[in-house]
Amino acid sequence: MKLSNYVAGEWVDGAGQGTPLHDPVTGDLVATAGSDGLDLAGALQYSRQHANPALQALSFAQRADLLSQVADLLTAKRDSYYEAALKNSGNTPVDAAIDVDGGIGNLKYFAALGQSLGDSRYAVEAGMDRLSREKAFQSIHMLTSLKGVAIHINAFNFPSWGLWEKASVALLAGVPVFAKPATTSCLLAYLMLKDVVEADILPKGSISLICGGGHDLMDYVQSDDLVMFTGSADTAAKLRSNPNVIASNVRFSVEADSLNLSLLAEDVQPGSDLFNAFIKEVVKEMTTKAGQKCTAIRRIMVPASCMTAVADAISDKLAKIVVGDPRKDGVRMGPLMNKSQQQAAEQGLAALRAEANVVFGGGENFVPQADAAELGCFVQPTLLRCDSPLQAKRVHDTEVFGPVSTLMPYNNEAEAWQLARLGGGSLACSVFSADAGFAARAAIALGGDHGRVLLVNETVMGGHTGHGIVMPQCVHGGPGRAGGGEELGGLRGLKHYMQRTAVQGDVETLEAIISKAATF
Ligand code: NAP
Repeated sequence: MKLSNYVAGEWVDGAGQGTPLHDPVTGDLVATAGSDGLDLAGALQYSRQHANPALQALSFAQRADLLSQVADLLTAKRDSYYEAALKNSGNTPVDAAIDVDGGIGNLKYFAALGQSLGDSRYAVEAGMDRLSREKAFQSIHMLTSLKGVAIHINAFNFPSWGLWEKASVALLAGVPVFAKPATTSCLLAYLMLKDVVEADILPKGSISLICGGGHDLMDYVQSDDLVMFTGSADTAAKLRSNPNVIASNVRFSVEADSLNLSLLAEDVQPGSDLFNAFIKEVVKEMTTKAGQKCTAIRRIMVPASCMTAVADAISDKLAKIVVGDPRKDGVRMGPLMNKSQQQAAEQGLAALRAEANVVFGGGENFVPQADAAELGCFVQPTLLRCDSPLQAKRVHDTEVFGPVSTLMPYNNEAEAWQLARLGGGSLACSVFSADAGFAARAAIALGGDHGRVLLVNETVMGGHTGHGIVMPQCVHGGPGRAGGGEELGGLRGLKHYMQRTAVQGDVETLEAIISKAATF
């Protein structure tokens, strides 16, 4: 199968043979994809000229209704997407649920949020400010939709969630989407968009999709567009420094890699319910999606006195995880995405081993449950232990994008915060503590280096949404090496796609503007 591209409201094949997409379990060819020869500048212009005004002619509630229809359609075809997620990404059903259902969940959330905004097409921020002696002269801040196109570049690990978590916000804000999934896993995004296009739900050109290539896209962005990039720090740096990106001052948001941490507090005793909840969460984070989650726990910080208890408990659980072909009964963890990811993970693990010892895994004598395991891209879940983390470097700056995590001790609160900072900025951290005072101090101490802090005590340990799960209500992104970007966060997310304008004038005039606006 050759995957086509959907641009300027038409399906267009790329020239040439395209890039092969493989099954990461068997190595079989699944499809080819490419966008060589496409007029990308023309395609972006089509979205700006046709889809942008068509979407912005609709109210928030009308756009929300479109999102709702897309969500219903995708829900009805869910099984076929699970099949594609297995075939092209080696996903277990749990992995596929995070990607497929996660994407649909985002659409539903923003559909509901959009309904609550009613018939307006723009928004104002609450409040008016008096500016001079003249009481009638005041100001408000108004938000109107950008006039360009939202270029969404996504990483390989979430071909569905990556597409819909960004598209749902952009479309609700009235901005058309130009999506570029990672080539290696783009089958799922292609199949989903094909169904949406066939159902004729959205104004023509509201979503464009290029399967493969598009590496010159940055040459065509304009100042009223925006770029939302998810992927590696290296690619982000390259795209952000494209001369056209710099010259056009286009909005550019980056979600990059991250050394997310989970911290066990000193008040939690080994063997307690909260301790067990911590262990369970760490193992889940290491093994779901085979550790290929940008938010996965990479650094596990525990009181020095608990190192052995934690190492033993995590190892016991990892020993029970069967790795292999998700088509086989009992398999709970699949392969990495492709051979180059497998190789990168092995290289990263070797770098970490210079500073840390293997407690569990490491790859020696590893036998995945697959008919021809050597063809698959399997990596054994591996727990490392670094006993002098303040003197170490690699364990704080090497993201192994796979099922690998490093355990490290801290001796007191100040040392825990110091260690956390060595990660250089991350997407998420979690803190397991029954001490509300400690949890609050942790949130404040860790907040500046993290986009999200999850505080788990006994009350929420059975009902929280997870360290690595990105919720549409909460912002996603992080400072420093995590890219410095931000997306989602309910209504906050819409503001990335809108221009905030200070409007100064007579109170009566301003009130007329406010009367027809949604308030964010
Ligand atoms: P990547 O190699 O940087 O690729 C990311 C995306 O950029 C892909 O769609 C890729 O397309 C595209 N790309 C590469 N060069 C380009 C160019 N010159 N112009 C336009 N697009 C270009 O990253 P990856 O290997 O897919 O993803 C793994 C990394 O992403 C990990 O480091 C992980 O931490 C990070 N990640 C972060 C988040 C987050 O939310 N913060 C989420 C997931 C992953 P091609 O496939 O066609 O090269």
